[in-house]
Amino acid sequence: MPPCPESAPPEVINYDSAAALRALLEERGLGMRKKFGQNFLINPGIRKRLVDALEIGAGERVWEVGPGLGAMTKELLDRGMNVRAFEIDPGFIGLLKELFIEKPGFTLVEGDVLKTWHQADQAEAPAPYLLGNLPYNIGAVLLANFIEEGRFFKRMIVTVQKEVARRMAAKPGGSDYSSFSVLIGSAYKVSPLMVIGASSFYPAPRVDSQGIRLDLRTDMDGRARPPLFYPLVRQLFSSRRKTIKNNLQSFVSSRIMKGDDPLDIVLPALEQCGIKPEERAENLTVEQFAELAEKVFFLTGKRGEECHDLR
Ligand code: SAM
Repeated sequence: MPPCPESAPPEVINYDSAAALRALLEERGLGMRKKFGQNFLINPGIRKRLVDALEIGAGERVWEVGPGLGAMTKELLDRGMNVRAFEIDPGFIGLLKELFIEKPGFTLVEGDVLKTWHQADQAEAPAPYLLGNLPYNIGAVLLANFIEEGRFFKRMIVTVQKEVARRMAAKPGGSDYSSFSVLIGSAYKVSPLMVIGASSFYPAPRVDSQGIRLDLRTDMDGRARPPLFYPLVRQLFSSRRKTIKNNLQSFVSSRIMKGDDPLDIVLPALEQCGIKPEERAENLTVEQFAELAEKVFFLTGKRGEECHDLR
């Protein structure tokens, strides 16, 4: 059926009903794309609680990732917030423009948010808040990308698959604790919010989701992410069964002169941090990773200087 732009005036979209959304999509000739993780939140109570969790009011600037048909966007704009929304689906983009482009405080960034956010950030002072019912295929990648690129939000409220939520909130010692947990924990205090059952979405996904609140940490600023922090964390988790010493040895080997012994750096670094060589990455806290990265950076740098002096 050809798209019919006049068929659904914004006022009458019923975001709470799967049947109404199905009819709207059909009427407009909008297909659902699995690869874009398109599941609409049709539970109005949960939409409201997620926006409430931002704890901000009129005039605040918020990024929204994946507005879809605009259910959360409407909630944000109705509360007087300035919304910059990032959407990839051309069909949804057309509808979002009809719905909101005239509204004060609304801007739409078209395309893949992983590619568009840098430029959007340069266009205005960085927005301090982010809300997103994140597409399952890019949720974790996007959050990691923001952190590694140094784009921090004062607060983010995101919905992710429950399994991703568990990894975000995981503490040392558990099987869910991963390099992603350390990355998130290095920048944010993580507070799990409500579990969102599949029936709160249209179409219903196969797994439950969870709301997560992320508040920027202010207690570790700077110290939390010394140079080498991200690659070191990833390397130390790369072979979970290996000891810290072995994983760190591989990491250091690629950063020193050929012929130098990586253990000359690995062992003093571990000792100075009070970490046993046979320890495993899954038992280290964010603070220990940060301290270790700092020591390794310092010692590899020193080694570089010594080599330079000798030449
Ligand atoms: N916010 C809506 C809601 O809660 O009902 C829709 C959420 S749906 C889970 C995810 C949305 O993200 C879809 O609209 C999808 O088209 C969009 N999306 C998927 N991948 C994207 C990407 N790489 N960049 C921007 N938007 C994307």
